[in-house]
Amino acid sequence: ELHRLSEFRDRPALSKDGVNVTLRANIGLISDVAVAQRNGADGVGLYRTEFPYMTRSNFPDRNDQYQLCKKIVESFEGPVTIRTLDIGGDKGLPYFSPPAEDNPFMGWRSVRVSLDNRDIFRTQIEAILMAGCHGKVKLLFPMISGVEEVRACKEVIEEAKNNLRQENIPFAEDIPIGVMIEVPAAVQMCKFLATEVDFFALGTNDLVQYMLAADRNNPLVNKYYNPLHPAILQAIKYVSDTANRLGKGVCLCGEMASDPLSFLVLLGIGIREFSMVSPFIPRTKAFLSDLNCSDATYIAEEVLQMGGSEQIHDFLVAAVNDLH
Ligand code: PEP
Ligand code: MG
Repeated sequence: ELHRLSEFRDRPALSKDGVNVTLRANIGLISDVAVAQRNGADGVGLYRTEFPYMTRSNFPDRNDQYQLCKKIVESFEGPVTIRTLDIGGDKGLPYFSPPAEDNPFMGWRSVRVSLDNRDIFRTQIEAILMAGCHGKVKLLFPMISGVEEVRACKEVIEEAKNNLRQENIPFAEDIPIGVMIEVPAAVQMCKFLATEVDFFALGTNDLVQYMLAADRNNPLVNKYYNPLHPAILQAIKYVSDTANRLGKGVCLCGEMASDPLSFLVLLGIGIREFSMVSPFIPRTKAFLSDLNCSDATYIAEEVLQMGGSEQIHDFLVAAVNDLH
């Protein structure tokens, strides 16, 4: 089995009936880079930049961030999607403690913190733009709920570019800009968000928690936290169809991408780009190589007619068994 999986590392991700899929890596620490390379990741679909912030005793300066991003970007031929700071909620910084909040996940977190700390935000964006000179970089904003936030982020990009120009520092002029679709309002508004950005990253970890009102880290409500809930699948279908229609890329980077039942239905829905914890990449390729995409399409069409999570789960289990 391990031998078989290692064979898949260097092969393209292809279904039995010849449909191409892109499998990228989710990374955080620099040590994840080697793991991603070893597992044949096609670039990085999600670089969680809060990790280097969490392991330090104060905010890293621009050069530190630039050097780190440069190193990562140079390690991949495929694009590296760098997400701006996503602290708050469950992710704290030892040197930057937000005020106590009753509902931290619905509070001052992620891009909201960045937009309220413009210098820190602009510094990070400058570092990312600078790293764009060393390979393919995409810039991703988390926790977006509407077009105003995207426009505010784009203003900070312009400030960052002006600063770099004034300092005569080379940077990538035209890096693609994207937003996480992880707040229910962003699903509903994706048609409008598409006019502002080049791509979407479907963050199902948060999307599931916010759509189903079930904390992603609370074991008491774990049974309500269900990525195969019909509401979630309908939302993903809407975002995927809208992105395809408007010619925008969409990459699904939540944990569900590496679950075979979920992968099957996501493929059938029309998602063709996934990002996951790297060790899952070879086994996803193996699973895909045994699968006709046309069967996945049929399976997803059936599933999208269903109103119950259990019914969906049982149907997918039976479908996967039938495939083998
Ligand atoms: C997500 O929310 O699905 C996601 C990929 O980001 P994170 O897990 O870092 O919140
Ligand atoms: Mg998230």
